[in-house]
Amino acid sequence: MAAPASWETVIGLETHVQLRTASKMFCGCSAAFGAPPNTNVCPVCLGLPGALPMANGLALQLAVRAALALGCTVHSRSVFARKNYFYPDLPKGYQISQFEQPLATEGSLSYLSPDRGIATATIQRLHVEEDAGKSLHDRFPKHTAIDLNRCGVPLVEIVTGPDFRSPQEARAYLLTLKQVLEYAAVSDCDMEKGSLRVDANVSVRRVGRPELGTKTEVKNINSFAYVEKALTVEHDRQIALLEGGGTVEQQTLLYDAKTNSVRPQRAKEASHDYRYFPDPDLPPLVLREEFIAEQQALLPELPAKKRERFVEKYALSVTDAAVLTADRSVADYYEAVVHAGADAKAAANWVMTEVLADAKDHADGLRVPAGALANLIGLVRGGTLSHQAAKRVFGEVADHGGEPRNVAEALGLIQVADTGVVTGWVSEVLVSHPTEVARYRSGETKLLQFFLGQVMKLSRGKADPKLAQRVLEEKLVA
Ligand SMILES: [Zn+2]
Repeated sequence: MAAPASWETVIGLETHVQLRTASKMFCGCSAAFGAPPNTNVCPVCLGLPGALPMANGLALQLAVRAALALGCTVHSRSVFARKNYFYPDLPKGYQISQFEQPLATEGSLSYLSPDRGIATATIQRLHVEEDAGKSLHDRFPKHTAIDLNRCGVPLVEIVTGPDFRSPQEARAYLLTLKQVLEYAAVSDCDMEKGSLRVDANVSVRRVGRPELGTKTEVKNINSFAYVEKALTVEHDRQIALLEGGGTVEQQTLLYDAKTNSVRPQRAKEASHDYRYFPDPDLPPLVLREEFIAEQQALLPELPAKKRERFVEKYALSVTDAAVLTADRSVADYYEAVVHAGADAKAAANWVMTEVLADAKDHADGLRVPAGALANLIGLVRGGTLSHQAAKRVFGEVADHGGEPRNVAEALGLIQVADTGVVTGWVSEVLVSHPTEVARYRSGETKLLQFFLGQVMKLSRGKADPKLAQRVLEEKLVA
């Protein structure tokens, strides 16, 4: 009997993204993160009788922009619905969401799959909803506290098809989604602050089988580091179950990062009878065509487009272009350096190494002005500074500012291309290393690098390396 085909994972993702607004979705309360518990609340978001919700115009603009950035069709008419369920952090007893008529449908997002190259995820729908409050289990021993500040904070939910074939793919998609939403400036996508949260539908099937296996829903994945872990734990669990002759039960699971395991949500919490119906307090959301066109016009060039353009315009590799366009501010900075006159390839190398390393270590971001970096690159190109010396100047300009040439002069790093001076250094090196000179002359020509190193050391990095090499070769032959 042939061995059974191996298993394939099928994953679909539902991502909740907090929109970048100052106030909540249906009231004027602040949507800021980190306020003292229960201070950003009012009768509307607490669901007190008689309070009436009113949709936040900016939230709607951002939601439409998010939908357009993901290539969705934005519907001119969508409907807010009540999603009814009981939970302590939901004072109204329902969440305002969209159900049968969502804001947008039928989008797609291409991303780089680690297994399949460029892959495309379908965006089945994108709808607007409000967030619920938060249960705090670690505040008081043996008690659960409730913070309602988050109640009513505007979200979009972005639902993909069952398109991912591995936890790694799901993660790659999420990183791309985050990139696009950050470019479109609709959200800060900060997972640690809860502004991007993911639920996943996971099932497994034998490779080659068309039908989907029974899926489970994994919730509570709240960091990028956990996405792969949580999904791997769940697909391993399902495969072990099936190989042991069992069946997968359709259920909702919570991921526990501390134990790296999943556990079923209590049956009561998992009740899926939400009894949706249109919210009688809110009229249908009707969007004019001009409004949608305005939002489209406000979208910047998105990462995929920018990447292609960088490859085309600056003759960069796809990998380099991907690094440079991962963050919009870095991409803009790179282009500013090139526009200030730097060679495109050299500028790419500087931004990908020194600039990004410096930005990683310093919260204040890109510290060397684009014009200054362009000048610095010019100094290396013109032979005034060695690459090594330029790196020092870069650090100095980052820490203390200043013009690269002045800084290089002050540090005594200007390269010496005076043949007389360089010949002096070369002679001194050769005199103090007679054994190596003899070895070189008897054929060990790879010692040239050693001599060059000695000249650079003696000149404290100031010797023009090309000139030094030429003088060395002449003197060693003699
Ligand atoms: Zn409120």
